[in-house]
Amino acid sequence: MHIQFLGASQEVTGSKYLIQGKAAGIDHCFMVDYGMFQGGKEADSKNSSPLLIDPAKLDFVVLTHAHIDHSGLLPRLCAQGFKGNIYCTPATAALLKIMLLDSAHLQEADHERALRKHLQGRWKGDLPIPLYSTIQAIDCLAQLKTFPFHQVFSPANGIRIEFFDAGHILGSAITAIDIQQHNNQYQRTVFSGDLGMFERPLGNNPELLTNADTIIIESTYGDRLHRKLSDTEDEFVDVLTNTIKHNGNVVIPAFAVGRTQEIIFLLIDLIRRKRLPHLNIWVDSPMATAVTQLTEEYLPQLDQEAQDVYAWYQKNTSKLDLRFVADVEESKALNRVKGGAIIISASGMCEAGRIVHHLKWNLPHRNNAIVITGFQAAGTLGRRLVDQAKIIHLFGKEVPVKASIHTIGGLSAHADQEGLIRWLKGFQSPPKHVYITHGEPNASHLLMKAIQSQLGWEHLTIPQVNTIFPL
Ligand SMILES: [Zn+2]
Repeated sequence: MHIQFLGASQEVTGSKYLIQGKAAGIDHCFMVDYGMFQGGKEADSKNSSPLLIDPAKLDFVVLTHAHIDHSGLLPRLCAQGFKGNIYCTPATAALLKIMLLDSAHLQEADHERALRKHLQGRWKGDLPIPLYSTIQAIDCLAQLKTFPFHQVFSPANGIRIEFFDAGHILGSAITAIDIQQHNNQYQRTVFSGDLGMFERPLGNNPELLTNADTIIIESTYGDRLHRKLSDTEDEFVDVLTNTIKHNGNVVIPAFAVGRTQEIIFLLIDLIRRKRLPHLNIWVDSPMATAVTQLTEEYLPQLDQEAQDVYAWYQKNTSKLDLRFVADVEESKALNRVKGGAIIISASGMCEAGRIVHHLKWNLPHRNNAIVITGFQAAGTLGRRLVDQAKIIHLFGKEVPVKASIHTIGGLSAHADQEGLIRWLKGFQSPPKHVYITHGEPNASHLLMKAIQSQLGWEHLTIPQVNTIFPL
């Protein structure tokens, strides 16, 4: 068998891995994840370029989790002829129903907006073409087939798969794939998927696995150590308290899936522990609202602390005003709020969606604060803010950045270098090979050095995109 790295190679988005070869004497061809590239013009051309093989030849796809950079091109794959099953956990399937439709809708809306401008002679360059339609996204959902954590299933002769909790977002799975060899022994390949932080507030720890022949590990924060949780919390409380005291707004760009719910839970928890006063919170993202409802459904899968916080909130709803903004008019009305609002909105990297409007209104005022809590890929607006741009361009106009920008890394949904090493330490003997993916080059290299020095493992590779290695 061979693995080909088709994305998330020396970058953080576009996760997709093609596995081909013989197992148990039969030819196999399947994909792990099929994500979208995000950030910059280059991403558009990479997303629309054809797959190296005929999609109809793929037997099945296994999905680690629902984030668009891992799942976002699935409707396109299905529309191009892939007819097999897409295996994932039940919570991932529930999230995909929301996320893939949202993704299709955003692309269609972008196209329609550009077309209108084009007809008025106000559009320069090529029109954005949707990668797939809403109908194609709905069709693709019919190919999902779910298995819960720890239930071994066999998608094809000679292949067994098991999902383990990755503690990253709802339903996120570390995926172990056992492939039968000529001697009838099984070789195990483990995909970390995206790994959550250990001892993160309100989330499960990533499960430890004990054996693997090959590991494919993410390295988003392979170069970083998150601040201690208590420091992170202090920092977050300081920003909120100071901004509200000076009658500013706090704008928090957040991924609608995972991050928004964590921030809501954290804010409730901080009020519960009397670290923050009564707050006016607006969650302005229809998808975040839908996912928050889903999170309530899946509450029993979250840790005890999350359940306690939720139970407290149900009894103390008057301690905060938590509003979910439904329509666009209500969202626009938020632009008139001059102070005292906590606005959580998507997209997480500030590339699209309602957050862009909130930034336009809130960035030019020095009383306001922007709190960045998630990873910002190179080329995104979020990254330019983190890199302290003084002026940004929104809707064709210059917007001065006068609000304070705070990056609070300790709230990340990704394990830091220490967490990644801690997860690797769970393996009782060194694997034959480790491939480090899903990180910018420096992050991947520093994780590689840490694995060498702290674990003494050899045979580590940071694959280039499209390269092929034996499994
Ligand atoms: Zn993710």
